[in-house]
Amino acid sequence: MRAVVTGGAGFVGSHLCERLLTQGHRVVCVDDLSTGRAENIAHLLDHPRFSYVHQDVTQGLEISGRVDAVYHLASPASPRDYLRLPVETLLVGSYGTRNALELARRDRAAFLLTSTSEVYGDPQVHPQPESYWGHVNPVGPRSVYDEAKRFGEALTMAYRRTYGVRTTIVRIFNTYGPRMRADDGRAVPAFVTQALAGLPLTVTGDGTQTRSLCYVDDLVAGLTTALETGVPGPVNLGNPEEVTVRELALAVREVCGSASPLTFLPRPEDDPRQRRPDISAARRELGWAPRTPLTEGLARTVAWFRATAPLPGEALPTLV
Ligand code: NAD
Repeated sequence: MRAVVTGGAGFVGSHLCERLLTQGHRVVCVDDLSTGRAENIAHLLDHPRFSYVHQDVTQGLEISGRVDAVYHLASPASPRDYLRLPVETLLVGSYGTRNALELARRDRAAFLLTSTSEVYGDPQVHPQPESYWGHVNPVGPRSVYDEAKRFGEALTMAYRRTYGVRTTIVRIFNTYGPRMRADDGRAVPAFVTQALAGLPLTVTGDGTQTRSLCYVDDLVAGLTTALETGVPGPVNLGNPEEVTVRELALAVREVCGSASPLTFLPRPEDDPRQRRPDISAARRELGWAPRTPLTEGLARTVAWFRATAPLPGEALPTLV
């Protein structure tokens, strides 16, 4: 199979490229490096079945030669990134998704959209099943991401209904692992880098808000299975085990063997209080469930951050 991965130089995309290569496929990674990093794919550039195209997918997606699958991941994903790139986020969710769908339509390729748990907004139903329509503030600062993904889902379904494109929508919940950017504002990389440096761990609010964290290897296994199975979705992919942000900070501190104290910062606007996927559909339709326990995933993540730690004197991130 020849697969195009938009956003392939990002955190999740680079792990997906690796998995597809391991499965014997050819991979075309398309990225503009706006939030991704060349280092994430540097080790793949010499691979005979891997190629990299530097392209902003809102401007077009010209790929020569037949394509069998399009994994559409390109989008700023962390709150810090999409708040910094609000218009770009809406454009990649709209024009970018259209261009990726057109590529799939051209070659009758399978298409997968990586949507997000953020389509549920600040949910009023727990855990969130796919049938829940969400509780989104359409004009708040986070709406640029939530609404871009909701539009992307609608466009994907319109291409399926109108042009018969074989589409799959997955809604990804918080994912963590090696290659997250230390400064992307998400809890795991912020806590890990702070704990390794012996600095206070910056918890937002009182830390009782919850997250459900899926290890990246488990997630990418879900992505490839979803595309191969061809289920239309949407299907939630995430870890139903819920932890409070405070518990997460303590777990990171323990894995790092750090004595850092916790400090508490104001909670960002529209920050969801509780997030937990209902993954019955993924279990039933894909035979998928996360396997990696939090402590094991954190240990692998911490090992990666230790190996790539900033030099003394380099700026350390704070959590937004
Ligand atoms: P990331 O920022 O690490 O990766 C996104 C990649 O897309 C980056 O390499 C970036 O350079 C690229 N990109 C952005 N705009 C582009 C454009 N216009 N043209 C070409 N490339 C562009 O984020 P990630 O965490 O790897 O997320 C990947 C996908 O998964 C995103 O679509 C995100 O919305 C979705 N997702 C991720 C999570 C998570 O917890 N990581 C949760 C829910 C959904």
